[in-house]
Amino acid sequence: MRLLRAIRRAGRAAEDAPDAPTAPRPVAAPELGGSVQVRHVDAGSCNGCEMEIASAFGPVYDAGRYGARLVASPRHADALLVTGVVTRNMAGPLRRTLDAVPAPRVVVAVGDCACDRGVFAGAYGVVGAVGDVVPVDLSVPGCPPRPEAVVAALRTVTGR
Ligand code: SF4
Repeated sequence: MRLLRAIRRAGRAAEDAPDAPTAPRPVAAPELGGSVQVRHVDAGSCNGCEMEIASAFGPVYDAGRYGARLVASPRHADALLVTGVVTRNMAGPLRRTLDAVPAPRVVVAVGDCACDRGVFAGAYGVVGAVGDVVPVDLSVPGCPPRPEAVVAALRTVTGR
């Protein structure tokens, strides 16, 4: 009972919500906002970017509190989060995945490989950066980018 009384006395403690992002929102989908469903595509990553994306959606950085949520199907998605250089085997699946995402939609390239081929530039199995295969609306540079950067990019899409 003493513990319950202490809990009642303390009340609910939570940090203040951060200010809404001031960065411009992606022009491809100004209608999106509030709640954005995100499908992740690994087009040829080393998995470093995936580790940071997992952190971005984990309990510490918690992209979910800004309205971004990972979904399993591109048909349920508003945004594609693409990591890695695009390998020959993934160019077609990446195009087909984007085709399956209903408009309006945005494509976010995450990591140096996705933005400009990074350390894999010139490798024999590489088609190119994500922007060479599908239109990219937002880029998050870094090798790998920090979870804060991934969350900040997603907040410009959700507007929260
Ligand atoms: S940007 Fe760095 S961490 Fe991300 S896939 Fe490329 S090499 Fe790996």
